Amino acid sequence: MIASIIVDVPVNRTNRPFDYRVPDYLQPLIRAGSRVIVPFGPRKLQGYVVVLLDETSVGATDRLRDVEQVLDDTPPLSPELLKLGEWMSRQYLCPWVTAVQAMIPAVLKGKAEKWLTATELLDEQSCGRSPLLWELLRKRHLPLSEVEKQFPDEYTLVPGWIGSGLLSTEYQVRDRVTKKQQTFVSCHLAPAAIEEAIASLPKRAEQMKACLAHFLRHGEQAVSMQTVQQEWGISRATVKSLEAKGLLTVEQVEVYRDPYAQRRFAASEKPAFTPRQQEVLEPILHSIQQESYASYLLHGVTGSGKTEVYLEAIEHTLARGREAIFLVPEISLTPQMVERFKSRFGADVAVLHSALSQGERYDEWRKIIRRQVKVVVGARSAIFAPFENVGLIVIDEEHESSYKQEETPRYHAREVALWRAKENGAVLLMGSATPSLETYALATRGRYGLLEMPDRVGNRPMPQVHVVDMREELQAENRSMFSRKLHELIADRLAKQEQMVIFLNRRGFSTFVMCRSCGYTLRCVHCDISLTYHKTNHTARCHYCGYTIQQPAHCPECQSEHIRFFGTGTQKVEEELAKLFPGIRVIRMDVDTTSRKGSHEELLDKFRRGQGDVLLGTQMIAKGLDFPRVTLVGVIAADTSLHLPDFRAAEKTFQLLTQVGGRAGRHELAGDVVIQTYTPEHYSIVHATRHDYPAFYREEMMQRRRTGYPPYFRLVLITFSHEEVPIVVRAAHVVGDHLRQRIAETTVLLGPVASPIARVKDRFRFQIMLKYRDEPNLAELLAQATAAFEEWNKQQKVLMTIDVDPYVLL
Ligand code: ADP
Ligand code: ZN
Ligand code: ZN
Repeated sequence: MIASIIVDVPVNRTNRPFDYRVPDYLQPLIRAGSRVIVPFGPRKLQGYVVVLLDETSVGATDRLRDVEQVLDDTPPLSPELLKLGEWMSRQYLCPWVTAVQAMIPAVLKGKAEKWLTATELLDEQSCGRSPLLWELLRKRHLPLSEVEKQFPDEYTLVPGWIGSGLLSTEYQVRDRVTKKQQTFVSCHLAPAAIEEAIASLPKRAEQMKACLAHFLRHGEQAVSMQTVQQEWGISRATVKSLEAKGLLTVEQVEVYRDPYAQRRFAASEKPAFTPRQQEVLEPILHSIQQESYASYLLHGVTGSGKTEVYLEAIEHTLARGREAIFLVPEISLTPQMVERFKSRFGADVAVLHSALSQGERYDEWRKIIRRQVKVVVGARSAIFAPFENVGLIVIDEEHESSYKQEETPRYHAREVALWRAKENGAVLLMGSATPSLETYALATRGRYGLLEMPDRVGNRPMPQVHVVDMREELQAENRSMFSRKLHELIADRLAKQEQMVIFLNRRGFSTFVMCRSCGYTLRCVHCDISLTYHKTNHTARCHYCGYTIQQPAHCPECQSEHIRFFGTGTQKVEEELAKLFPGIRVIRMDVDTTSRKGSHEELLDKFRRGQGDVLLGTQMIAKGLDFPRVTLVGVIAADTSLHLPDFRAAEKTFQLLTQVGGRAGRHELAGDVVIQTYTPEHYSIVHATRHDYPAFYREEMMQRRRTGYPPYFRLVLITFSHEEVPIVVRAAHVVGDHLRQRIAETTVLLGPVASPIARVKDRFRFQIMLKYRDEPNLAELLAQATAAFEEWNKQQKVLMTIDVDPYVLL
């Protein structure tokens, strides 16, 4: 048997499968998608089996080397995921192996220790004359490294035993127990025997008798030690003495770590659908019945009942015996959201969240690969859930930029979802109140079914939006960061004891340190950006490289004392609120208050319980939160995100304002939104105020057409970096010249020019941008350019990254 294997050397030269011979003893275990160890030159590397071939179908095999190890009992990659990896490698110009590694949990890639475990099939008879099996029958687990040392003769027999189900392997992350063990107690005696035992126990052994009586009622099923102790009130010592008498069995059983274990989820009733919901559900459910590819964009205002539509679609998918993937932006993956799923689908749900520990993620992933769940809820990378019968993929908040991965492989989850939906004959359902222009444009052209839900459930009114021109505030001598309108409404809500959300738009705008005498700003000495001021320790820090200095007392340029931080941070807003409204209870959510695991949720819980009047924060609080008692939303600086060097600046501003506005008045209480801005006439602000997506879409599409940006043109951004300017410039020209000779006439090549952030971590950055409408061989073209670059780069150390359909242009 021959295995074709891609190896973990993520460079283009080795980006193809290599053939290895599979020794007989590994054959029971190896499959397409298996993770293996192979020799590669002088090294040993991890690799993935792409395909298994018959010896006869391959040419000369005598020079092939052997596969050394098969790492998992169940291959972590399905044939579909292998194929997806190949597609990604072409689409996003990354090595195939890099693409497939993005699909599996980090535990499997790191330095995890492998353990051999006896399964329930291993008994005295199957142990035969093997000392290793007898040892395992006794101990249940052994580290594989120890097996290799202590039982060298039997080592090669292990794969066969795994293949026949007697043994299994698991990974243990160093310093961290991967599997959580729980103690279970059971009684395997017949009822009559238990009664007999109770009768024969001494009179004063009351606890023991009580314990057995519980088991008499409970039956044979195992009970957790926790239940025995806490609910039955039986001590551990009592259980132990009953075990010693052979009346009870105590064993350690693996349980999955469940990050939501502490919560109780009430089974939820589904609501009677509104006519709108029924209307949009009809085509979706029809497609789900068809079990063939279909795609929809569900454009519904915040609070229109989209989530109920998703849940219904998932239920129908499961009813057909198929599986569902539900993607949400990381930040919206709140306990509330998880609760809605768990209460509907119970234990059928796995949750993949970046706040999980590596071990927790691995546990959730194993539930998927062992087919113990049917629904996966998760952020971007959950799109790689190793299901084999996907019937539905939902992408909530479809427009979110966090669906794009900003490191290799630079994929977009929406595109991967589209690929998987087609491959599986599944339904792709994308939803948003503010769809991305790209998606909406395709929907209007019929590529996706367009479903609209323009009204809130129960006809709750959209909140009243007040736009305040901050220039007028200044003219009226109001120098506070709160306009008179916002001030008045905050006071009103405090009096009525209703809650508020105050949102600070800080995208690309933070507290920098500037001299008011000469205008000098503190900048990073390694990167070309301003330092951000941190009040807690009076330092200024670079957010790219971490360079930190103490806030200077005098301007380094003109020696003036008037050097201080500028701009509005959440801390500043909090102080101002406290000054203006003594006694106001503010819950601040920003990177400083939420860095600890779980703190994000704690703060939200606190607010939900009413232990705060104001929830104050940045982007973090814009999405998905649903608080019944919030009746006022204030936006401090609506237009700061308009001034970024990004063609999506207006779109992002519109989305943000719409999302934030959607937080107010979602329930019985009506809501107000105050938007403070210096550019009230900008169309993104005007249309957000009127909740008018179509008008915004039309105007923004005109801009994009005029400036030649997506969706009219598509982009490729190629970035180069090196410590020396002349070298990085030459590299950019090598690739630029190569491409210029080969691109289509309608394609525009911009650059090479210095990147907007021209230096990061002491490396100078140059870029080339391709704008194209129709470039049929783009992937091939870029692959050739990469080859030309690598040839030139042999003597240099220039880094080149290619970003197809980029989101970050800095
Ligand atoms: P969206 O996802 O579009 O923001 P949700 O699905 O969260 O909207 O619905 C908004 C609110 O309306 C939620 O509190 C939800 O429970 C409620 N809701 C949704 N559909 C119905 C319905 N058919 N009847 C009653 N309440 C509903
Ligand atoms: Zn100065
Ligand atoms: Zn820096």
